[in-house]
Amino acid sequence: MPRPGTDAVTVIGAGWAGLAAAIHLVRAGRSVRLLDAAPQAGGRARRITLQWEHPAEGVNPVELDNGQHLLLGAYTEVLQLLEVIGAMEEPRLQRRPMRLASSSGLLMERPGFASDRLGTAGSAIAGAVLAPLSPLLGLVRAQGLSAGSRWAMVRVFAQLRLAGWRPPPGVSTVAEWYRQARQPAELVERIWQPLVISALNTPADRACARTFLRVLRDSLGGPPGASDFVLPLRDLSDLFVDPALGWLRQHGAELMLRSDVRRIERGGTCRYRVVGSDRNTDNPLSIECRQVILATPPYASARLLEGVAEPSLVAELNRFQYLPITTAYLGWPHEALAPKDGFQEPIVPALMSLRESAAEHRFAQWFFDRGPQAHWRIAALVLSDSRAARELGDNQLGEALTRQVTDELALPAPMQLSLIHEKRATIACTPDRPRLLPDAAGPRLRGLALAGDYMYGDYPATLEGAVRSGRVAAEAVAGG
Ligand SMILES: Cc1cc2nc3c(=O)[nH]c(=O)nc-3n(C[C@H](O)[C@H](O)[C@H](O)COP(=O)(O)OP(=O)(O)OC[C@H]3O[C@@H](n4cnc5c(N)ncnc54)[C@H](O)[C@@H]3O)c2cc1C
Repeated sequence: MPRPGTDAVTVIGAGWAGLAAAIHLVRAGRSVRLLDAAPQAGGRARRITLQWEHPAEGVNPVELDNGQHLLLGAYTEVLQLLEVIGAMEEPRLQRRPMRLASSSGLLMERPGFASDRLGTAGSAIAGAVLAPLSPLLGLVRAQGLSAGSRWAMVRVFAQLRLAGWRPPPGVSTVAEWYRQARQPAELVERIWQPLVISALNTPADRACARTFLRVLRDSLGGPPGASDFVLPLRDLSDLFVDPALGWLRQHGAELMLRSDVRRIERGGTCRYRVVGSDRNTDNPLSIECRQVILATPPYASARLLEGVAEPSLVAELNRFQYLPITTAYLGWPHEALAPKDGFQEPIVPALMSLRESAAEHRFAQWFFDRGPQAHWRIAALVLSDSRAARELGDNQLGEALTRQVTDELALPAPMQLSLIHEKRATIACTPDRPRLLPDAAGPRLRGLALAGDYMYGDYPATLEGAVRSGRVAAEAVAGG
């Protein structure tokens, strides 16, 4: 197949936003060149390989994700894109109705009323009528919450629906919202705080109420299935990144990994010259093109646009703040957990919220059972906004996390524990963060669009936000 020429759109950044942009451009009939500085695509949501030493089997690779991710049924564009690239043809994900369980005995499930799960016409009608009420029924039947808290939740959901899922005037952070909505301390501690930190990776006293309520609207307040938990069967590269690369290659796109872009210049025979270095050969890189999508994080986009975009855009991009996430992967040899044959069962409920308390050195908020892989049973602990945890240093943090799973979940100490720190995991989702549109570069930089999880208006920095931003950026440049 011929290499794309100067009429190809150059997409810089092969994370989920750049991959989505490239796919949408190809579907719109454009030829595409996709570059990434890293040796692999996928950005912050990619496969990593750890080398773990097993007592009987020696050192073997274990394939995991750069960070533990949870996708929701509300991620409609991610799910559609998986269909487009044929990734749904074989099972790559497991989808389960929402089930919030905590180590302290809370259990909240959204009952499924999908008509296809019901046999008769009568029950299908009952399903259709009851489906919108399923979140409320889930709340009413929640176990481990006082009747007062359950009622306060039902009331606040009804109020939110009436108010169009918007915070009242004058309320900008999530903490202000739940104070204004008079949510009991039990609910704040056991429901709202774990949800906010996991959905927005931002503590409630800084987290944007408007964005959080939008997430609630699209998940708990959405159609049946929107709040489903969607988990990759293997890893995120298997789910999306590898099938996306395969699809793009098959459709003639040029993929250039280890291509580090340093600047974007105006002029030449085309509108833009993308300048950098090819890390495969150490040779300089220079690509002329008329259209560019910059699907890099805001700090990288600011650097690339320095001197070419309006200084005010560079300043806005530099105004984003970032928060870290730490993922701890825990490994038990199968026999350490289940001497007989019970290890196919979840270790504890497959996804469980933990009791976070930095003062007591309990830093993990969520536990994910990732199931068996090779000779291991593997789980992940998620530490959103892990600033306080990182102050401990890796050795002490590892010990604290081991104590947390042994004390709180009554599990044996893991034989392997690997920490993955992502310093700039997401933007801080605060009410005053910059809100940019894909064409933020304006007429001065015609044909240049921005994409990335930080772009999609009132969405938090998520895979769905990244993929949507990629689609919008592709639409902005596809026409020429
Ligand atoms: C630990 C962790 C847990 C998370 N958990 C969840 C979750 O549960 N659910 C969820 O929905 N989201 C989660 N997220 C967020 C999600 O991973 C991101 O929103 C998404 O991956 C961002 O995609 P992106 O394409 O916008 O950016 P990125 O993935 O950052 O992609 C940008 C790409 O640009 C490349 N690049 C940068 N500079 C240059 C340059 N100069 N030249 C060439 N290439 C360059 C990078 O190498 C990278 O591949 C999590 C993130 C982390 C880190």
